[in-house]
Amino acid sequence: MKLARFLHQEKERFGIVEGDHIQVAEGALFGSFNVTRQGYPLEEIKLLPPTQPSKIVAVGLNYKDHAAEVKIEIPDEPLLFLKPSSAVIGHLDHIIYPPMSHRVDFEGELGIVMGKTAQGVPEEGADECILGYTCCNDVTARDLQGKDGQWTRAKGFDTFAPVGPWIETEIDPTCLQLETFLNGERKQASNTSNLIFPPRRLVSFISQIMTLYPGDVIATGTPSGIGPMNVGDTVEVRIEGIGNLVNRVTTRHAA
Ligand code: MG
Repeated sequence: MKLARFLHQEKERFGIVEGDHIQVAEGALFGSFNVTRQGYPLEEIKLLPPTQPSKIVAVGLNYKDHAAEVKIEIPDEPLLFLKPSSAVIGHLDHIIYPPMSHRVDFEGELGIVMGKTAQGVPEEGADECILGYTCCNDVTARDLQGKDGQWTRAKGFDTFAPVGPWIETEIDPTCLQLETFLNGERKQASNTSNLIFPPRRLVSFISQIMTLYPGDVIATGTPSGIGPMNVGDTVEVRIEGIGNLVNRVTTRHAA
């Protein structure tokens, strides 16, 4: 099922997307809930980020095809960094191009959304801690990433973590086509079967370091084909069986 948070008549709610409708649910998105008989057409609601994570744990180089492309040896452990929760935006929200940067890139990624608290979880126990999967865009100020050496500024601007449009809870994440389009032109295309460290391994590895809470997101890394975006561009991360995450790039004062 596709779990989404949304705004309807200025009220935040959540529900289950079925085709072009959303059925309202009551209870806790990350706990137990009931689906009501009330529903709305998707065009009458505004989708919100499907989760409000305490943190986004992101993974550096994690695609075999990308490693080959940039001629880097396959790492023996995941390289991790954090994106702040303040960077999260949802489907159709705007990515704001920061004046501090002159090169802002898209990175289309599969996102893992945690459903349970995970601390020191073995790989075999990872699946039961995962609620589902979503699309992420690990937006990056590439010039500042190189300049700073460490990545907090480059990866941490407000709006630099589009997540959505919803959480798909019934999908096998091990063989999904992942594509990123810029103004309708396909720029990235790979498959999650190329992941060096698959979702279970990542959940287990990260949970040995920091406690993962319900709603936390793991951005699993991007394949080859990353590139720059400009003000006015529309970027779309599309993952087979999950959905399409679309965002436009604007300046802070754009209408
Ligand atoms: Mg990335």
